[in-house]
Parts: sequence; structure tokens; C-alpha cells
Amino acid sequence: MKRLGMRIFLSHLLVIGLAAVILILASQASLPNAFERHLRKMDGRLMMRGAGMMLELYREYRNSFNEALFLALVVAVFVSILASAWLSLRIVSPLQALARATRRIAQGHYDERVEVEGEDEIADLGRDFNNMAAQLEQVEARRRQLIADVSHELRTPLTAIKGYMEGLLDGVLPAGEETFHQVYQEAERLSRLVDDLQELSRVEAGAIELHFRPLRLEQAIATVRKRLGPQIEAQGLTLHLYLPDSLPAVLADEDRLIQILTNLVGNAIKFTPRGGEINIRAEQRGNEVYVTVEDNGIGIPPEHLGRIFDRFYRVDRSRSRETGGSGIGLTIVRHLVEAHHGRIWAESEGEGKGSRFIFTLPVARQA
Ligand code: ADP
Repeated sequence: MKRLGMRIFLSHLLVIGLAAVILILASQASLPNAFERHLRKMDGRLMMRGAGMMLELYREYRNSFNEALFLALVVAVFVSILASAWLSLRIVSPLQALARATRRIAQGHYDERVEVEGEDEIADLGRDFNNMAAQLEQVEARRRQLIADVSHELRTPLTAIKGYMEGLLDGVLPAGEETFHQVYQEAERLSRLVDDLQELSRVEAGAIELHFRPLRLEQAIATVRKRLGPQIEAQGLTLHLYLPDSLPAVLADEDRLIQILTNLVGNAIKFTPRGGEINIRAEQRGNEVYVTVEDNGIGIPPEHLGRIFDRFYRVDRSRSRETGGSGIGLTIVRHLVEAHHGRIWAESEGEGKGSRFIFTLPVARQA
């Protein structure tokens, strides 16, 4: 029992002491009056026997009252001290358990939990503590997973660069344009990965500043079309837009909206074979505008649909190596859409049957 326990114990003791003193003083002050009043009610003959006897009787009565009072006080104080000590211990021991668990967590033992009993404030504190510990445990698990994933992603291009260099040194690979080009491509992949990771860490931390204003979706789409047009043409693809005239303005950050669309259309280009089609549709439903980016490319098998927004997740890793994808693009897109208070999901009838990415944006209210 340390300071808090002692303080609770002493405060209980103070209350007991005060109660005892007041009990004594009050009883002593009221005793003569009470005695007289009761005697007066008694038979008058007793009064006649004389004042001496009255005094004697009163003294005896007071002595026996004091004796009983003293005995009662000793027992009461003793029991109160025991009860007070027990109560103080009960309050302090869960706090001590919490302090111990906090120290364990600070040392990195994130699986530490405290036992929670009852419904009082200390039990609430224990429950909150356990919730916090569970959250910390999850964050730690995610951090470990992230480090494992990042190392894995970095290792792949580095191993390739090392392989080319060894080939060059051993004279197995010709020191020609093609080899240098391969090395350059791997270095490119590394720098793209680092850029993506930096962007991901910013969106995940909510460290990007969004400037919301009413925007015409048509304009953002026109910008994306201009930017990706050459790529679409080079791939022999066609882009169709289905935008109703009545489409209201959306509340969005222009640069980020363009980033979302560029990413989705970019993926559609990557995963759609020559001669394919990409469609962008938009329609208003209630207070939201639903934007769909659709292609008739390689599609996504149903078992992957739920996971493609996860970090580093790719349906076909070997294919992604050719297209240079790291599996971070959609994770960033999901964060950006959510930062716009929207939702995003993917649909596909299966492999070879094309994919649809749908996201929502809030309609800008009329001023
Ligand atoms: P990546 O950099 O690999 O494109 P993304 O996060 O953008 O990473 O996409 C994750 C995965 O989702 C891709 O590797 C691919 O397997 C799948 N994917 C995304 N868009 C499409 C699409 N339009 N058609 C088919 N698969 C897609």
C-alpha cells in the first residue's frame, strides 16, 4: 500500500475519529437534559425522596452510560479500521495491476491485459486500458507486416540489378544497350516504389491537405483523358464517356480527384489487351455521384475482389512485374476516396470478363 492507499486509509480514519468525537461530545451535552426530562415523567414520589438520592442516581446512570459508550466506541473504531484498510486495498490493488501492465506494455509486451471486475470507474479504466492495449497490438502487427512487405518489394528489383551486374562483371551478359536498359528499368521500379510508399504513408497518416470545392466531373475527366490519351491510343484502346447533362457538381479536391481517376484509368489501360474498351460513367443517386471506370480487360477472379485494395496486393505478381505495379495504387485511391467521404469497390464477372471500379463522391450543395 503506497501513497494513494495510505491517503484513502487516513481519510477514512479521520472520518471515523470525527464521528467518535462528535458522538462523545453530543451525548455528554445532551445527557443531563435528557435524564431530567425522563425523570420528570416518572412518578412524583420518587422526586420527593430528596435531591441527594437524585444526584447519586444521576451519577450512576452517567457512569454506566459512559462505560457502554466507551465499549461501543472501541469495537466500532476497531471494526471501522479493518473495513477501511480492506476498502483502501480494494481500490489500490487494481490500480497497481494497471501500473504493472502499463510498464509491461512500455517494454513492448503488447499482449498484456488486466483483469476487470465489476462496473465501477476503476473497472471502466481497466476496460479502456485493455482496448488501448489491443489497438497497440494491432498497430504493432501492422508495422511488422509493413516492414516485411517493404523489404520483400525492395528485394525483388535489387536482386535483379545485382544479377545484371554480376552477369556484366562475369562477361556472361553483353555490356550493350539492352542490358543497361534492363538495369535502368529496375532502378526506375525502385524509385517508383519509394515514391508510392511515401505517398501511401502520407495518405495513411491523413497528412494530405484537401481543398474541397464544387467541381465539374466532366472537367476532371477531360484532364485525365488528355493526360492518358497517348497511352490509350498506343495500346489501341478506345475510351467512351457516359456523362448525363444533368450531372451536378461534386464536392472534391481537384488534384486528388484527377489522381483517383488517373489511377483507375491507368489500371484499366494496363489490364486491358489491345483493341479493348474503357468506359467512364457517372450518375447521381441521392446525395452522391457514382463514378464507374469500366474495362473489358483481363478481369478479376471473385476471390481477389475483396483484397485488391490492400497494400501490395496484386492478383498476378509475375504479370505485375511486367506492368511495373507494386500493388499500392489502389490502396492510395481508397484512402483518397474515403478522405472525400466516399466509398470505392470493384466488380468483375471473373477472369477475362473485364472489371468495374465504382466510387462515390458527395454532391456539392447549391449555395
Ligand atoms: P498495381 O500497381 O499492381 O496496378 P494497384 O493497387 O493499382 O497496383 O492494383 C492492385 C491489383 O489489382 C493489380 O495488381 C491487379 O491485379 C488488380 N487490378 C487493378 N485494376 C485492375 C483492372 N482494371 N483489371 C484487372 N485487374 C486489376
